Amino acid sequence: MPLEIPNLTVVNHPLIQHKLTWLRSESTGTDSFRQLLREVSQLLAYEATRALPTALVTIKTPMTTAQLPVISGKKLCLVSILRAGNGMLEGFLDVLPLPRVGHIGIERNPDTLEAAMYYFKVPNDLACRQVLMVDPMLATGHSCAAAVARLKDAGCTQITLVCLLAAPDGVRHMHEVHPDVPVFAAALDSHLNEQGYIVPGLGDAGDRLYGTR
Ligand code: URA
Repeated sequence: MPLEIPNLTVVNHPLIQHKLTWLRSESTGTDSFRQLLREVSQLLAYEATRALPTALVTIKTPMTTAQLPVISGKKLCLVSILRAGNGMLEGFLDVLPLPRVGHIGIERNPDTLEAAMYYFKVPNDLACRQVLMVDPMLATGHSCAAAVARLKDAGCTQITLVCLLAAPDGVRHMHEVHPDVPVFAAALDSHLNEQGYIVPGLGDAGDRLYGTR
């Protein structure tokens, strides 16, 4: 079924797709998985921040004085959805200028697939910041939607979700509940299985990242 969701951007750059294929492979071990996720996240950060505003500052190069662009506008805050979000956080921190970092702990009930929040720690000036929320797997979308709702309660008005893999259900749910939140993903996968896992997917992102099972 074609999925036309205006706020979804699938970043299908060949470098991302290549690394993503090896992330998906079950023969990729924990170290390589962590490194690949970090590298793909750097590339996703590049695309997800494409629309950031810039302003000119005066800089002296060794040759002359010039007016040159730097990022302006609201300061950034990264928010990681525990625990797999931390695997993406590393890549974002590699490339973004001086972001603050928040963490949200959210678990899904394996029977109902509903989200339950157990941790919320974000900078207290969140209302003045643009949030980039990272969670590798947008499955049902319930966890991400609940996290975004909590960020909005905390005063945040500008939120972007960046994930690795998205399922159609999750993208639809995010669009229904938070149509103002753009979603970036490296791939839009086929469907969710009965346990709520993304297919073809990559399995449990937290387990793959930390070697737990
Ligand atoms: N979370 C995961 O880690 N993997 C999935 O496929 C879905 C949710």
